Amino acid sequence: MQVARARSAVGRSLIRSRPTVFTPHGAPSRAQVLRRFESTEAAPLTPPPSRFRSRWQRFLQLLGGATLVTIAGSGVLYYYAQKDRSPGPQLPHDPSKKTIVVLGSGWGATSLLKGLDTTEYNVIVVSPKNYFLFTPLLPSVAVGTLTAQAILQPTRYVTRHKNRQVSVIEATATDVDPVAKTVTFADTSEIQGQVSATTIKYDYLVYAVGAEVQTFNIAGVRENACFMKEMEDAEKTQRRFLDCLESAAFPGQSQAEIDRLLHVVVVGGGPTGVELSGEIHDFLEEDLRSWYPELANHIRISLVEALPSVLPSFSKQLIEYTESTFKEAKIDILTKTMVKEVREKSVVLQMPDKSIVEVPCGLVVWAAGNTHRKITRDLMAKLPKHQTNRRGITVDEYLRMAGTDGSIFAVGDCTATSYAPTAQVANQQGRYLARVFEQLAKRDALQQRLQAIEAAPAAEEAKAEKDSVQKQLAKAEKLRPFHYSHQGSLAYIGSEKAIADLPFFGGNLATGGVATFLFWRSAYISNLFSWRNRVLVLTDWAKVKLFGRDVSRE
Ligand code: NAD
Repeated sequence: MQVARARSAVGRSLIRSRPTVFTPHGAPSRAQVLRRFESTEAAPLTPPPSRFRSRWQRFLQLLGGATLVTIAGSGVLYYYAQKDRSPGPQLPHDPSKKTIVVLGSGWGATSLLKGLDTTEYNVIVVSPKNYFLFTPLLPSVAVGTLTAQAILQPTRYVTRHKNRQVSVIEATATDVDPVAKTVTFADTSEIQGQVSATTIKYDYLVYAVGAEVQTFNIAGVRENACFMKEMEDAEKTQRRFLDCLESAAFPGQSQAEIDRLLHVVVVGGGPTGVELSGEIHDFLEEDLRSWYPELANHIRISLVEALPSVLPSFSKQLIEYTESTFKEAKIDILTKTMVKEVREKSVVLQMPDKSIVEVPCGLVVWAAGNTHRKITRDLMAKLPKHQTNRRGITVDEYLRMAGTDGSIFAVGDCTATSYAPTAQVANQQGRYLARVFEQLAKRDALQQRLQAIEAAPAAEEAKAEKDSVQKQLAKAEKLRPFHYSHQGSLAYIGSEKAIADLPFFGGNLATGGVATFLFWRSAYISNLFSWRNRVLVLTDWAKVKLFGRDVSRE
């Protein structure tokens, strides 16, 4: 009441001091003016909202907006997740269609399956693993930054969404006969049914079996080292590392034994070895210092590389950046040093001066590169005139295996091409092959049409149609060669830093650091093959940020 009265008083005094505005209908009465003033012009006299209030209102608006976006985003995610979970009915296998047998479920095979239109083919996938593994993030699983499921995608999640049914067979191919056009495979898993080996025929074979770990026949590698190639390798490495920690914590252990158990030797300074060393360092700094304070200072990481530097495929400045980051992180890099033997409790090294040194250690991880598999060697031996490259299968510019009639295509790490054996190359080769098969299906359909026209009694319209089909056929028969487009190389080097060599306006942009680490993460998130994996990886990263990595040993 008092405030209202005070306002009226202020209003009256203002009216007195203001010139009255006259309207063509005559002057308003004093009461009218006062009423109008009180109802309209009193508002600006209200004290402006306090800064706290306006911030609070802005905050509430933002919160409301964010909530709406979250609800909408969750709705979209839920919709796609449900769509993904409920694949519809598929066309059955059709004996009149050609059969493509795909060997493998890695990068090449999976990107082919994703892009392939199966309407025109019967497709059979044979792989010892019934999933696709996103290999670039494997070192993260070895220290518990990511869980296994986050980077695995069951092959059936891809094939169940295809137009026509795709058979997925968990088996190891043991033989390929390029003349009879058959593949023999066997169930090599723990549990087997009455039938565990069989042979099937193919019209086209996509050979995408990848590679296996290269040990150079160095003594003790298979028996005493962990690899970093498959999911079970990463899990084994994690278990062994934690075992080393727990054994070092066992009462009464001598200091020399503690130091041995806590010494991790990573062999191979390629991207795999560097990324793993960086991940182990993060595990040590971010988690082990809290849970094993008495041991943390004794943990040592040594990266052994036979060449003069690590990461030979990266730019010079990025190699130097990695080396200085590792130095800061107290990761020892031993270059020009070659592992000659891996023993149960040590590694035997040939030092740069050629002297031989035995270094005690608790864990050896072998990341010294890959070589082709036995089945690949056997297949190449069947075509001795054309398959002479020791690095792998020779293919032509359309990825057809040299020496075959064009029915075998080979992609990925099992091939010897001018490109590095990387996931990126295999991924692009798989996508390319999907387009090739589409074109081959078109070609086959046109050939059938042409035959039908030729078989029919000659008519004037038939001649015009024949010409048109012949033209289309000539076009369909011309395959475009495979062309690799390099999108850059990325590697994580630990301490929330990554390095990247990126193509930039015809040149190269070499960058490293925390911003590159964020770029590395976003690039891998977008490269993951499914939304399910994206969500799982993001959740794991958030979990580790909040709660740290798990140190319980299964
Ligand atoms: P790699 O072949 O790139 O590196 C292996 C290293 O081990 C070589 O530098 C070799 O000199 C060294 N080595 C071999 N035997 C040794 C011994 N006895 N003692 C000491 N050192 C020895 O292997 P990788 O890192 O597993 O990579 C395999 C392929 O995958 C490469 O083409 C690589 O570019 C690609 N890759 C890329 C990324 C990425 O870009 N982030 C990640 C992983 C793998």
